[in-house]
Amino acid sequence: MPIATTGLVLRQVKLGEADQILTLLTPDLGVISASAKGSLRLKNKLFSACGHFSYSEFVLTSGRSHYFVDDAQVKKVFYGVSSTVEGLALASYMAEVAAELSPAPPEAEAQLRLLLNCLYMICEKKRPWRQLKAIYELRALCLAGYMPDVLACSACGKYDGGSFYFSPAEGRLLCAACADRERHLPNLDPGALYALRHICLSEDNKLFSFSLADASLKNLSGVCEQYLLTHLEHGLKTLDFLKTVVE
Ligand SMILES: [Zn+2]
Repeated sequence: MPIATTGLVLRQVKLGEADQILTLLTPDLGVISASAKGSLRLKNKLFSACGHFSYSEFVLTSGRSHYFVDDAQVKKVFYGVSSTVEGLALASYMAEVAAELSPAPPEAEAQLRLLLNCLYMICEKKRPWRQLKAIYELRALCLAGYMPDVLACSACGKYDGGSFYFSPAEGRLLCAACADRERHLPNLDPGALYALRHICLSEDNKLFSFSLADASLKNLSGVCEQYLLTHLEHGLKTLDFLKTVVE
């Protein structure tokens, strides 16, 4: 029985001369592997639909260990992603994170929407790469069930005023005074704290609507990355690569 689904190509592994094994993020099947025979040939009907970061309509059949792509029609290609090295490196990192988190339905649909929106924003080039990276890292974790407690200091209930410490391991906030008692240095200035709450709590259509001074953005970015890496429990090759091409 063929299955029709939309999907975003997260990863391609070349097999033989012109075949590929794709990693797809789909709303209904989660993250799957699918073999696409002949899809690396320019004239093959699958060529553009199976390209990196192609968002396509797939017709799949289920095999023993993975799916087979019988047919595919491209819906959207994020050409702008590869127009800069930074954009491509950032998008590749996001795709690796999505594959690592490997969401199942119904979470997969929300994760797919988030990633598509981030790829769109990378193409638009209207937000700093650090902001898009932080938004993706934190929001993807929230969708995966790791919503941190960002409302107030977890020890004394203080809501704002001055810098705060966010614990990547525990996903909670401490005000500067409580952080000091637990021998932590604050890692969020007021601007970064505002943005942290915004990313966790805002609606989808407002997610990208904030701007931060560079220093605050660096704080936010550091905290979101640590939070993600703490949960994945290992580094990512695409993150190492991203760091070699930015700043
Ligand atoms: Zn406190």
